[in-house]
Amino acid sequence: MPEAGDHPRGLNAVTVVGASLAGFRAAETLREEGFTGRITVVGAEVHLPYDRPPLSKDVLAGHKDIDSLPFKPVGLSFDDLDVDWRLGVAASGLDLGTREVQLEDGSTVAFDGLVIATGTRVRTLPNQPQHDGIHMLRTLDDCLRLRADFDALPSRVVVVGAGFIGAEVAATARERGLEVTLLEALEVPLQRVLGDQMGAVCAEIHRDHGVDLRLSAGVDGFVDDGAGRVAGVVLSDGSTVDADVVVVGVGVVPNTEWLEGSGLTLDNGVVCDETCLAAPGVVAAGDVARWPNRRFGETMRVEHWENAQEQGEHAARTLLGHTEPYQPVPWFWSDQYDRKIQLAGRNRPDDEVQIVDGSIEERRFAAIYGRNGAIVGVLGMNRPRMVMQYRKLIADGASWDEALNL
Ligand SMILES: Cc1cc2nc3c(=O)[nH]c(=O)nc-3n(C[C@H](O)[C@H](O)[C@H](O)COP(=O)(O)OP(=O)(O)OC[C@H]3O[C@@H](n4cnc5c(N)ncnc54)[C@H](O)[C@@H]3O)c2cc1C
Repeated sequence: MPEAGDHPRGLNAVTVVGASLAGFRAAETLREEGFTGRITVVGAEVHLPYDRPPLSKDVLAGHKDIDSLPFKPVGLSFDDLDVDWRLGVAASGLDLGTREVQLEDGSTVAFDGLVIATGTRVRTLPNQPQHDGIHMLRTLDDCLRLRADFDALPSRVVVVGAGFIGAEVAATARERGLEVTLLEALEVPLQRVLGDQMGAVCAEIHRDHGVDLRLSAGVDGFVDDGAGRVAGVVLSDGSTVDADVVVVGVGVVPNTEWLEGSGLTLDNGVVCDETCLAAPGVVAAGDVARWPNRRFGETMRVEHWENAQEQGEHAARTLLGHTEPYQPVPWFWSDQYDRKIQLAGRNRPDDEVQIVDGSIEERRFAAIYGRNGAIVGVLGMNRPRMVMQYRKLIADGASWDEALNL
């Protein structure tokens, strides 16, 4: 196993593309592990790497200052990171032969080692117009624009998509006293992740808080007010929901276009091996990376905060010559109203589901998911300690019976 400071021969310059969580943790880990060569971080946004989860929660609510968002290195000063930041400029191409990243301003950055951490961007609806008042939420700038609209208008807010981001925006808007309609194309929100019963519980907490939740509601188009501002959303049944502000939260797509033609395998993300290696001296991490997770016998791409952090660290170590497989039990949280929803593992809609603590009625419970005699997932609503206990069982490969008897 390589020792700290003993990086592979020829690794003198590492370029990280994507200045967010995975890229930041990768750069930090390189320094922690004793890498003394040049680190360049290229980022399309003008900001230093910052935390995204508060953008749909406390920052959107107006409770949190944006000064608290930038990441800080743990145990190192910013100066110790010694990174050459290239911000506000996107990478536009990769040449694995000359080992150069091309930037959209025409310049290039040479590398011996490359970390790809370009994450995801929001998906748009087909024919989504550019009207004022229609928002997406991925970046700090998106959040500030949306917050300004929330501040300015006596808003009727329509949120399209009841996935986790849409659900959080709906909850934050309700907490701000706004009238909210939440549109979901499926019969049950999050059905593909949580199954019918648990998806329905996540839907009901919005109704508990006065959201007009409409299920099986497709969007056919938008109405404007004649002056370029959105005035409503047209549903597939022909009806219109009036709106001052619309937030479209219908998922994300990985940012891989800049890698087309590079020779890397792209398939709904950058395809890596089980150590996060995409090619010799090239690793990928975070929302953009797709890799075989040996623990689950499954190739996955994970869009969670914790994964971006851990995979950024793991990928950096791989670049330094470590060879351990990356095999986490993925988990994430979502804050909606006064509920902390957490999900760990790899559950599927057809898994067996059992409530092991609390009750749906109280909106406070832990439910476990089982398949082929093993525990594969856990969902908690205001049950953080239990989620972590069951997550450990999943990591240990515990049987369904062991999990039921915890
Ligand atoms: C509003 C919001 C709330 C969230 N809440 C939660 C939560 O509660 N819990 C949870 O687990 N997760 C949450 N997430 C998800 C979590 O934030 C992501 O999983 C995490 O940010 C992924 O980090 P990343 O570094 O892989 O990619 P990203 O954060 O997507 O960053 C990628 C960066 O690369 C840049 N980039 C893209 N293309 C290029 C290019 N060609 N050249 C240079 N730079 C480029 C992008 O501009 C971006 O800055 C939330 C996300 C959002 C948007």
